[in-house]
Amino acid sequence: MILMKSNFMNKKINFFSADKKQLKKIFISIEEKSFRAEQMMQWIYKKLNKNIEKNSNFSKKLKIFIKDNFTFNLPDLIKEKNSFDKTIKWIFKIEKQKIETIYIPEKNRATLCISSQIGCLVGCQFCATGMQGFNRNLETSEIIGQIWIAKKIIKNRSLKKKMHPITNIVFMGMGEPLLNLPNITKAISIIKDKNGFSISKRRITISTVGIPKGIDQLRLLKIDVILAISLHAPNEKIRSIIIPFSKKYSIHSILKSAERYRIFSKANKKILTIEYIMIKNINDKKEHALELSKILKSQFFKINLIPFNPFFGSFYQRSDLNNVKNFANILKKKNFFVTIRKVRGEDIQASCGQLVGKVINKISLK
Ligand code: SAH
Ligand code: SF4
Repeated sequence: MILMKSNFMNKKINFFSADKKQLKKIFISIEEKSFRAEQMMQWIYKKLNKNIEKNSNFSKKLKIFIKDNFTFNLPDLIKEKNSFDKTIKWIFKIEKQKIETIYIPEKNRATLCISSQIGCLVGCQFCATGMQGFNRNLETSEIIGQIWIAKKIIKNRSLKKKMHPITNIVFMGMGEPLLNLPNITKAISIIKDKNGFSISKRRITISTVGIPKGIDQLRLLKIDVILAISLHAPNEKIRSIIIPFSKKYSIHSILKSAERYRIFSKANKKILTIEYIMIKNINDKKEHALELSKILKSQFFKINLIPFNPFFGSFYQRSDLNNVKNFANILKKKNFFVTIRKVRGEDIQASCGQLVGKVINKISLK
């Protein structure tokens, strides 16, 4: 090993923003063995220990190099809210902003719903995040940090009371993941890595409002995960009212890029998910279900109906449960596989679309 001096790299890099490929490059460049990357990842992601000093596999020199060239900064956890149904909301502070992460335990699994941006530029009319505005994309370290801290809390608490370990990750928190592709790409590489969080592609979901270029990019970068498309309407007229941003991309172009992704992906087992929010008197009528069944092919899509979750200041209402069931039945008769999303964490504003965080210094689309 030749180079061990301080500030070998121009600027310290945040370890949580680096995937294995990047770490290997760094170690090779200082004539260290590339497996140091795996060792370092195991220490931090498996043992959940940020203190490299304690790692006896690393020489003193190497520890000095790491100290001089890496930071291990994570978002600041400032608050926790617990729901009666065991859903937990964690609020993180990043600079003067706040983002939210949700832990949703079930009998045989636990899903962590993570944020990809501070706020969201898309501005869907039914979404509290969209109504908040946008400040900036989250760094990879800020995305990975949400998972790392959640895992650490679960590990520490499990000594006293069992908490289900995280089995699934969904990009369904604040923000539109496909508008932060470089950082979510790296985050997914760390989430999947067997020295990282070791979560399989079949347990990672990207939910997107539907950005054809972004879906194509995912495919071209060979990022194989479960893809869920927030369609929410059976025609352009309704879609452009509830998602004004959708005027940029037609339903037809979204479904075409989705089809290319479907063919490429192994994670999805050749069936993509369509998310459809059920808003009273807006998109929840029998004719909407029939129209939806005509624009989608039942062998290629399953449909997840999401009862609208109200939030402070929202001007829509949730469809009646009977309406949701009737809507589902119409689609089932047309051979679609349909699920109705359970409402979780509503008492702590942790349900889909209720995440507001705190967004200041907003940037607008125009
Ligand atoms: N930006 C991405 C992912 C975050 S939103 C997307 O739009 O898909 C995650 C899911 O919650 C999306 O399907 C979104 O449409 C839905 N959602 C947003 N606001 C909601 C609300 N008030 N009630 C129910 N679901 C909502
Ligand atoms: Fe953004 Fe998704 Fe909310 Fe729309 S639903 S505003 S895309 S986070």
